Amino acid sequence: MTGPLVDRLGRPLGSLRLSVTDRCNMRCRYCMPEEEYLWLPRTSLLSFEELTRLATIFQGLGVRRIRLTGGEPLLRHGLPDLVRMLAASSTTEDLALTTNGILLEGHLPSLIAAGLDRVTVSLDTLRPERLVAFARSTRHADALRGITAAQAAGLPVKLNSVMVRGFNDDELLDLLEYARLVGAEIRYIEYMDVGGATRWSEADVLSRDQILALVAARYGAVEPVAPLEESAGPADRFRLSDGTVFGIIASVTRPFCRTCDRSRITADGTWYLCLYGDEGVSLRDPLRLGASDEELGDLISHAWQARTDRGAELRMETPDRGVLHQLTSLRADPRREMHTRGG
Ligand code: SAM
Ligand code: SF4
Ligand code: SF4
Repeated sequence: MTGPLVDRLGRPLGSLRLSVTDRCNMRCRYCMPEEEYLWLPRTSLLSFEELTRLATIFQGLGVRRIRLTGGEPLLRHGLPDLVRMLAASSTTEDLALTTNGILLEGHLPSLIAAGLDRVTVSLDTLRPERLVAFARSTRHADALRGITAAQAAGLPVKLNSVMVRGFNDDELLDLLEYARLVGAEIRYIEYMDVGGATRWSEADVLSRDQILALVAARYGAVEPVAPLEESAGPADRFRLSDGTVFGIIASVTRPFCRTCDRSRITADGTWYLCLYGDEGVSLRDPLRLGASDEELGDLISHAWQARTDRGAELRMETPDRGVLHQLTSLRADPRREMHTRGG
């Protein structure tokens, strides 16, 4: 390759999300609100060897940051083995995990020993009874223990909080205080109309501007801070006068498609070039039919070079914006679900 691989809008292939399972031990209302789901067949799930091989090919094409996600990634049996295999690659610069935290504490020693660089824990409420109502989980205390154990072990921790009006907007400042207390940077996430968010409504979105106004009303003026290099992330970051830093991921009101270097592979090896993309590229089929690394690399390069996706921007331009996919559409292809794509 002569120069970095870029898409039609000049965006490099920089970060890769590997979804390792579509199963989850929570049922967040903004992600998995239904009673029943169609799961990916177990035989279709990529093995750790297959995932590592794909990750290595992607790294050869420019990927530097890898994030393991799901579903709940810690439900995938033996996940630390995958971390070890990925961390062994000399081109992996940043290996992260996004988790709901329930199973984190028990897995921490093996994840750290395997070479995990950092963890993001999703925490939307500090009230156990709200987690029961909103995510059908009684394991709030386990998630909090996961966060403090990770901090105590020296693993860098970030918190993700999806803000949903009428659910947890009254905890916005409490969540910031909690993050400050445990020494983790919090990122507020605008509630997105992704696949699976079948209860989404624009009225339930707490916007970046509203979040900033609430923070400023309590703490005074906030100043913008440069983005974090290692995540080249979509979060706009801000600092309070006491030095506390927090972020906002404003995918709904200020999409960051123009600089988006992310793509994601579902647990069954389907590669999506955009969170909102309808069609994915099957990498599992050629992989299992015996394609060489070079052939897989060519397939990936050609698809990335043709990429024009800017899903969140197009959604913002949609008049009378409603849910992205109705249930029938999700049932027709479960890979449209956020919990399959990995967020
Ligand atoms: N289960 C893990 C977790 O919750 O951290 C990893 C997978 S989850 C799909 C990844 C991220 O997507 C989480 O931070 C979650 O809050 C976020 N997410 C899911 N549905 C969302 C939605 N409708 N809007 C915004 N963020 C969402
Ligand atoms: Fe919640 Fe993550 Fe599970 Fe979705 S995948 S239901 S966001 S814990
Ligand atoms: Fe990237 Fe698609 Fe998200 Fe835009 S909507 S930031 S192109 S993944």
